[in-house]
Amino acid sequence: MSAPEIPKPRPANVPGRARLERVTVVLPWDLDPRLSAFPRTPRDGQLVVLETRAKPLALPFHRQKLALVVSALRHFVAERRAAGFVVEHLVADDYATGVTEMIAWAKPREVHAMEPREWAIDRRFRTLPITLHADGGPGGHFLGSREEFLAWARGRKVLRMEHFYPRMRRALGVLVDQQGRPTGGQWSFDTENRKHARGVEVPAIPWIAPDEITRAALRFAARAGRWGTLEPFGWPVTRADALGWLDDFIRGRLERFGPYEDAIRTDARFLFHSLLSVPLNLGLLHPRELVDHAVEAYRARRLPLASVEGFVRQVIGWREFIRGIYWHLMPGLREANQLAATRPLPAAFWEPERTELACLRDALASVRDTGYTHHIQRLMVICNYSVLAGLDPRAVSHWFWAAFVDAYEWVELPNVVGMGMFGTDAFTTKPYVASAAYIQRMAGGPKAAPCASCKFDPSKRTGPDACPLNAMYWDFLRQHRAEHARNPRMRVLLQNLDRMKPAELAQIRASAEAHRASLAPLDPPWSFEEDAG
Ligand code: FAD
Repeated sequence: MSAPEIPKPRPANVPGRARLERVTVVLPWDLDPRLSAFPRTPRDGQLVVLETRAKPLALPFHRQKLALVVSALRHFVAERRAAGFVVEHLVADDYATGVTEMIAWAKPREVHAMEPREWAIDRRFRTLPITLHADGGPGGHFLGSREEFLAWARGRKVLRMEHFYPRMRRALGVLVDQQGRPTGGQWSFDTENRKHARGVEVPAIPWIAPDEITRAALRFAARAGRWGTLEPFGWPVTRADALGWLDDFIRGRLERFGPYEDAIRTDARFLFHSLLSVPLNLGLLHPRELVDHAVEAYRARRLPLASVEGFVRQVIGWREFIRGIYWHLMPGLREANQLAATRPLPAAFWEPERTELACLRDALASVRDTGYTHHIQRLMVICNYSVLAGLDPRAVSHWFWAAFVDAYEWVELPNVVGMGMFGTDAFTTKPYVASAAYIQRMAGGPKAAPCASCKFDPSKRTGPDACPLNAMYWDFLRQHRAEHARNPRMRVLLQNLDRMKPAELAQIRASAEAHRASLAPLDPPWSFEEDAG
């Protein structure tokens, strides 16, 4: 694969040209000039924007992800130059080598960077002569610092998002009164957010037509990419695009975000979700902006609290919690596999039509076509199937990292290995597993797709036309009965399991094993380099 078409490094500080003196190194997710490592004016310092040859090759990234990152970075370079800054845009073998080479030829007085968000890059940057700025708290991308989270986590026996979240609400003064009590009298309205969305009218997503910079990035991704549908491509790649998307979400979708948060619709894949993880994770938006806009809309337009609180919880609760968990549990999190699941990834993950389960096929096709599915499809369709089928959590994590346009290790790894695959119980109480009944309910009943258009019957546990999720679900409970018995939240399910007759259990086991055995891996011609970059 050839390297991206971007400018070659200049040989050295050239007399008569702007010199690199106080340099800020910019990684692809640092696209926010308000971050503390950035110079405030062109006189205060220069920027070195880095791309690497190692990163695009590290995983079989979705073509839209490659186009997204390259386009957003190039737009950022153009915008900073237009604002009068000296910007060197370099391609190096990896980020640390890029910094070392730049220091050797430019001999800057000072080098600054934000703390890298990826564990391996962070470790390498800490060996270099760089002043690293905290990526959380004032001047950072995240709302809290790594140290604050680690101090909170160290003092606790159990790590739960619901304990962390009120603390964030109070610290940030979001939806709390003067005494620190939650607006509406409770911290979470999650139990009100469980409706299906069958027949509900869903607004269109304001996809953005590619400009010349994005078209060049699409050409690069067409050559360099190995997987995923490239076009249509409409993701936001500038701050202006991202602000437009934020506004569109707040105006048109936030009101119904809450009740339909867990719904599944095959004909309206994005439902009322914000899709803002994509610009947010690149730094084109700051999480505080999302929260402030949502709270402002709650006050000005009297939007339902359950929707606004639900959205706020995702951004200042889940997102910050997950990022803290990443730094708390790395590097061991990559290998966490408490269920000892070892089955390789089935071919359908790369070629969705190879599964006959309509729910899984639709979720995987959404990822192939756009690099996105919403939370409940990630958790309760793709990961649910993966846990029940006994797939290796690390293989599933690699796939998520490569396949999603908003995926970076700090966010996909805890979500996939911890929450989705139950590879560790460090921060979740029980596996998120469900039978076909759950999918059918969240889709809107027996007449709704995907179950209505599936070859399998969601009401049957065994037999050739029974939904494989059912047999695998009960067989999973049987297999891990001893571990689950210690968990009070599993008691009712285990009582149901215990009521089954031995002959039925034997049939369930045989059906589950037959389905698992039928899963052929694709064995793709690529490897996964977690530490690359
Ligand atoms: P919305 O539903 O509109 O939610 C609003 C915002 O809340 C999101 O943009 C996101 O920034 C934040 N958020 C919500 N839940 C989480 C969470 N669990 N962790 C972190 N942020 C959260 N999110 C990613 O950004 N990148 C990933 O690679 C990623 N992988 C995931 C893998 C699995 C198995 C699961 C279960 C979740 C994953 N998530 C990931 C979290 C969540 O699913 C996505 O953030 C969300 O679906 C993005 O779509 P959205 O912007 O429309 O979200």
